[in-house]
Amino acid sequence: MAAGIIDGKAVAARVRATLKGEVAAFYAATGIQPGLATVLVGGDPASEVYVASKRKSSVAAGMADLHQHLAEDTSQAEVEELLRALAADPAVSGILLQLPVPAHLDAAALIDLIPFEKDVDGLTTMSVGLLAQNKPGLRPCTPSGVLELLDAYDVPIEGANVVVIGRSELVGRPVAQLLVNRNATVTIAHSRTRNLAEVCRGADIVVAAAGVKGLITADHIKPGATVIDVGIHRGPDGLSGDVDFGAVAEVAGLITPVPGGVGPMTIAMLLSNTLRAAELQYALALR
Ligand code: NAP
Repeated sequence: MAAGIIDGKAVAARVRATLKGEVAAFYAATGIQPGLATVLVGGDPASEVYVASKRKSSVAAGMADLHQHLAEDTSQAEVEELLRALAADPAVSGILLQLPVPAHLDAAALIDLIPFEKDVDGLTTMSVGLLAQNKPGLRPCTPSGVLELLDAYDVPIEGANVVVIGRSELVGRPVAQLLVNRNATVTIAHSRTRNLAEVCRGADIVVAAAGVKGLITADHIKPGATVIDVGIHRGPDGLSGDVDFGAVAEVAGLITPVPGGVGPMTIAMLLSNTLRAAELQYALALR
């Protein structure tokens, strides 16, 4: 194998350790303990696991766990009432509405009730606009994790040719915008892109976020390129990604494994966002 491995577990552990110190320092300086309100509607088993992990990690970082669990049949009006209360509560630094919500709820309308200074998922229309305009704000967690990994391994971003595969609101679009804001030359590929392999072969950095197992093969990669695999697929042999890891690792310069690459970064960046949210609210209150 030629490629160096980007160790997301190690980078995430470093981010979390640094953050723990920053949370303690912020608390000592302001008397404010950052608090994360995860909001789970219903009992989707995967969502319960994700939320439990976010709560545990926030407590480990020294933050307050302000979790809210609502029944599956909670009405739109009742969820809206809770989100408005959390938005107004000064003990709540960050609000995270766990997705997907039950089908009878309007997720987009609920997300937009989260004020931008508490939007730790970075998914509200306001936060998306702030990112598009390259103005300060809270950025989506997985895309921020991708940038953090590139920086941790000193991968040059400015001027680099980057292909992002995927244009979802959750991953593809925000990753592309974060990279453009860092002066990369970015191509966004998607399901209608013609000759994906040829498009990717021009890239110094490939970010695969298509949700198609093994889509990216050695044929897509320029020798020495950096390959970031955001995809997660559960199979009989465990987790795998959008990248054919074994073959691509023979060609790439650096590559993220699945598991142990991008995945661990998502919660680390959520915690980071929760502290940034608390700092932002403190600064706004001083104005
Ligand atoms: P998504 O909403 O399904 O979006 C997939 C995107 O990929 C779409 O823009 C789609 O194009 C494009 N696409 C699909 N098939 C393609 C193909 N054959 N060639 C090129 N582009 C193709 O998925 P997502 O939410 O962005 O998630 C993407 C993957 O990342 C999933 O595997 C998900 O599980 C994983 N993920 C991981 C983390 C983490 O923490 N590591 C976090 C979030 C998501 P169109 O727009 O044309 O349909």
